[in-house]
Amino acid sequence: MSLISDVYDVIIIGGGIAGFSAAMYGGRLKLNTLVITSVRGGVIIQTNDIANWPGIEKTDGMSLAGNIEKHATSYQNVNVLDDTVTKVKKAANGFSVSTEGDKTISSRSIIIATGTEWRKLGVPGEEQFSGKGVHYCALCDGYAYKDKIIAVIGGADSAAKEAILLTRWAKKVYMIYRKETIRPEPITLANVEEKIREGKMEIINNANVLEIKGDQRLTHIILDRKYNGGDEFKLDGLFVEIGHNPQSGLAKQIGVELSKKGEINVNRNAETNLDGVYAAGDVTDGRFKQAIIASAEGVQAIYSAYEYLKSKK
Ligand code: NDP
Repeated sequence: MSLISDVYDVIIIGGGIAGFSAAMYGGRLKLNTLVITSVRGGVIIQTNDIANWPGIEKTDGMSLAGNIEKHATSYQNVNVLDDTVTKVKKAANGFSVSTEGDKTISSRSIIIATGTEWRKLGVPGEEQFSGKGVHYCALCDGYAYKDKIIAVIGGADSAAKEAILLTRWAKKVYMIYRKETIRPEPITLANVEEKIREGKMEIINNANVLEIKGDQRLTHIILDRKYNGGDEFKLDGLFVEIGHNPQSGLAKQIGVELSKKGEINVNRNAETNLDGVYAAGDVTDGRFKQAIIASAEGVQAIYSAYEYLKSKK
């Protein structure tokens, strides 16, 4: 990448929907904009079925994210650096951002759009069999389970959608949920019910995984209640879909205020408690984690950055 500026107007950390939506407006607002991201597209590229982006009845995450990125980078004042930010510091006239790839880049403002990471079950065997029967992304790894028996842990929208997707390959998909009734969005629930009627899915409620066991790879799990009379539940694969944790470590580093859940506290204008630092997308304390909301928050963040920079001139 050739840098277009010694000091960027704005560095956007994270290249998901929020980050690239901000960058697209950065292009239009004529801000020298740099997106630094380890994964272009972010978490949505693992979703194959998107039917809630206004104006597009059906698409997939890779296409949606790819199009937003393409739109953003069609502006010459928008750069992308494929790297991981390791440190953000306050500097004389703004901020200094260091990366794993040994770059140190200056900017006058920062937008944090670092998203979330998968929550782990934290039970014995999870780490040992990760990638060997234990997975976190159905679209990435589900194809390997043709005609196999698999289970999805979790009971909200992601778990239900992943379970439905997995029925494309698997002989049977169990949803193991810790409470009485799963709680996906109504339209997703209707799809689950259809799969249950077809005999492709089954829900095991009021159950928690205590341990994941196997030899070379996962062979069975132990639940905290007997299922079909047995202590051991034989499986070929297990997909953990129990939500996400905010990736707010960098924000914390520079003194950005976090919520109890570790999300970045922002106001309606995507401003944090620090001048010149904005946040957008799933890493913020917004209640509804939706792509369209992340996109809009990205736009709010860059407008706020724009006004801040104007006020400094
Ligand atoms: P959620 O945090 O909403 O749900 C996590 C699920 O896992 C819940 O059912 C929860 O149980 C369960 N769970 C959490 N921890 C454990 C644990 N330790 N052991 C067992 N089960 C556990 O995550 P989602 O990823 O589903 O959704 C996150 C956000 O993303 C939501 O706002 C959702 O609306 C949004 N989303 C949007 C989509 C879209 O754009 N269409 C698609 C998917 C998600 P419990 O029910 O008891 O809390």
